Amino acid sequence: MKRAIAALLALGLSSCSAAAQAKGPKLIVAITVDQLSAEIFNQYRPHFTGGFRRLSGGIVFSDGYQAHGTTETCAGYATVLTGNHPARSGIIANNWVDFSLEREEKTMNCVEDASVARAPDGSYTVSSVNLRVPTLGDRMKAATPASRVVAVAGKDRAAAIPGGRSPDQRWWWSNGRFVQNNAAHPAPVAEQVNAAIAGAIARERAPLVPGPACEGKDRAVSLAGVGTVGAFRFQRRTGDSAAFARGPEMDAATLALAAALVQQLQLGRGEVPDLLSIGLSATDYVGHRYGNQGVETCLQLMSLDSDLGGFLTFLDRSGIDYAVVLTADHGVLDLPERQRQLGRANAARLDKGATAEAIGAEVARRLALPEPVFQGDFYLSDKVPAARRSEVLQLATQLLRAHPQVEGVWTKSELAAHPLPAGRAETWSLIDRQRASFDPQRSPDLAVAYKEGVTLISEPGEGAVATHGSPWDYDRKVPILFWWKDVLHQERSESAMTVDIVPTLASLIGLSIPAGEIDGRCLDLQPGPTTNCN
Ligand code: ZN
Repeated sequence: MKRAIAALLALGLSSCSAAAQAKGPKLIVAITVDQLSAEIFNQYRPHFTGGFRRLSGGIVFSDGYQAHGTTETCAGYATVLTGNHPARSGIIANNWVDFSLEREEKTMNCVEDASVARAPDGSYTVSSVNLRVPTLGDRMKAATPASRVVAVAGKDRAAAIPGGRSPDQRWWWSNGRFVQNNAAHPAPVAEQVNAAIAGAIARERAPLVPGPACEGKDRAVSLAGVGTVGAFRFQRRTGDSAAFARGPEMDAATLALAAALVQQLQLGRGEVPDLLSIGLSATDYVGHRYGNQGVETCLQLMSLDSDLGGFLTFLDRSGIDYAVVLTADHGVLDLPERQRQLGRANAARLDKGATAEAIGAEVARRLALPEPVFQGDFYLSDKVPAARRSEVLQLATQLLRAHPQVEGVWTKSELAAHPLPAGRAETWSLIDRQRASFDPQRSPDLAVAYKEGVTLISEPGEGAVATHGSPWDYDRKVPILFWWKDVLHQERSESAMTVDIVPTLASLIGLSIPAGEIDGRCLDLQPGPTTNCN
């Protein structure tokens, strides 16, 4: 009898939600987990019991791609909510060199508004001004001005880029609390969340206890100059806000702020859809600091799984009709020292002789030019005389190609002449991938791809033992999950790209995007003859 009642209830609920679905969800929740590679997601998937498990019961593209070559955070975040590759979004990397800047420091951050002078401590004004294209939220607001756009994240870039041009709320973590920089958009609940965070930071944290999923992961690997990684359990001293920010507590705090803003703004309760973007940054901090095959990433993902589950339950209880997409801004490669222990023979650290600094020094010596020849990666210094620039690039290319760790080198004119790739991401050549990361104003003078398995950190240091950024699939492949209430579970084996997320979400809320404006294509999420894509 109980079962019959439950079945009736389920029937009633599902028909009710199907009716709502016809008009589309009223809240889009776009979650990006920083550095959640497809490899690590698939490895832990059987162990998830919380939010990741729920979302894995939706429509799962386990072969998702951040298709471009320079797999960095800013570039990846920009693809997710613009539908464009970096070549079109303009967000090609975390930083680029701009010699037209009047200040001495020519490197700028992807979310820096360079028209505003930096503060004495070097901090910049956070903005989305460098985005060359609208975000999904910008398009929603253009179509239905009452739509609200809220972006919260651990990292400034992970809030500013998805937030687009005129977010209603945009919060990121800075020095022990969540901050924003738009006084016209106060949020009293954010102050409550910050007060709770201050209370949590003031308490010490005991080491986390690894569960069965983490069995066999708790193994220390010694790294010269760093100590050991692989066995840290996130114990924290009282008052250590930096340690709070680089572990599971940070993502929990980010989700708490997201929930508080949903409540304060009553997101998802209007006539038109709202957008909530959540950037979960801790997995990336953990991965860079400890790599991802130790107990640290296991503890981080298990905590996040649980906190994400709590957040989704909160949304359920609020009765909002919502749809979720979850993906990542890039993947990662575990540290080479452990990769070799685990059988990846080609894992190595980048030889210092193949860096821009070393190649530049050799070019300067041979051509009797003053150093530096290159600045901030392979940007030709503005001190190199115009008449000698092509000679410098030619010699640098020759030296790079002769290095055993270099796979390919391309000049700006070569990339500019190469067509933007179309078709499935797994068929893209290396030059295709670099072309999708190319912007004529912002890209370096040489694009260099190192061999597969090369970690782009020559010497490990505290906080930086493993990384991403390469055009290889371990850095490109990310999960893409869609979920809403009563969604029909589908494991989709065909590849999809993160640029496909915007047109797909747009189709769910009936938002039209003029043909040719974005690189992504709508993913058909409905089995059978009907389609969400028109
Ligand atoms: Zn990232």
